[in-house]
Amino acid sequence: MTKATKMSWPAGVLGALLSLALLGGCALGHSQAPTDEASQKAATTPEAQSDIDFMVLVNKTHPLPAGWEDAVNLAHFTNSEGWDVDVEQTAYNAYLELKEDLEAEGVYVDLDSAFRSTQEQQRIVDDFTAKYGAEYVKQYVAVPGYSEHHTGLALDLFLIIDGKGVCENEDMVTYPEVWKKIHAKLADHGFILRYLPGKKIETGASYEPWHIRYVNDVQVAHKIMDEGITLERYLGALDPAVAECVVDYGNSTVYSESDMDSALDPILAEFGGWAGCSLKSLTFAGDAVCAEELAHANSLRAEEMGEFTQAILFTSVLHSPSAELCEGTAWQPDTDYNDYKWLLARRGTDDSWQLLTWGLG
Ligand SMILES: [Zn+2]
Repeated sequence: MTKATKMSWPAGVLGALLSLALLGGCALGHSQAPTDEASQKAATTPEAQSDIDFMVLVNKTHPLPAGWEDAVNLAHFTNSEGWDVDVEQTAYNAYLELKEDLEAEGVYVDLDSAFRSTQEQQRIVDDFTAKYGAEYVKQYVAVPGYSEHHTGLALDLFLIIDGKGVCENEDMVTYPEVWKKIHAKLADHGFILRYLPGKKIETGASYEPWHIRYVNDVQVAHKIMDEGITLERYLGALDPAVAECVVDYGNSTVYSESDMDSALDPILAEFGGWAGCSLKSLTFAGDAVCAEELAHANSLRAEEMGEFTQAILFTSVLHSPSAELCEGTAWQPDTDYNDYKWLLARRGTDDSWQLLTWGLG
């Protein structure tokens, strides 16, 4: 979720925008109707159909298909904050219906950001690195060319609560009940919730309640939403090595799910090279165990590294490869190993997790 297009006013609407923009930031300018839908509709150009695959998969391993930007037909509008937003035309029409449907239930949303070019994505990487640090960016911002926002089919919503825009990620996550109502309506309009909680291992992204994806098919959207599955799983595009892996985040008072999600990256990077192995589960070992492991982690570090302040231990069930791939290794072929452990540590929340040890407990 970003304000990627705030800077790029087209000359034609500049005057109209200026009065809105002068009202100030996100918290102002919602005193009448939450948005002016009529003007949004008028701002669009209902023209040619996009000649695109609405089920396209763009993620960390699947880049935007070549020629996409020539084939996609974008609608352009200005949101209630005065920011320019481009969205794929069919997705925009569906979004307006979704919005109307939600308003009937007293839920008000607006569109923050949808289509982004590769150049815009690079600018976000730079801005967010300055604002939140490289670690945050690694977790929440896609590499240019690998963002679903390049498709024009991914929409970042923001909330309007008591007439005021709530746009910042850290504020939006404090309204879980509102998001629940929004998510319940998505499929009826051909949208899915793209980044489900606890599914980073499948999508590559942590939970984002605001990021919805248009699939242009109500039935498909319902199947995905009703089953609570990721787009990757629906499309059969999961890496078989982790396709069945269940992550159990436990009940930590020290680490959030997003802390644990960022600790998954080095595990998956290491595990990616183990031919024929599959990971069946990753289970957070608990706060008490992790506190003990912190001392262990510090006993392992080199003097010049600085002291670790946080440690996470995951235990896993790991399934070994078939006989031919096990040759020359210590694995028993085709066997579940139930006590495989991964120890990670970092020096504060701005630091990257380091995978220190891994092996059978
Ligand atoms: Zn997004």
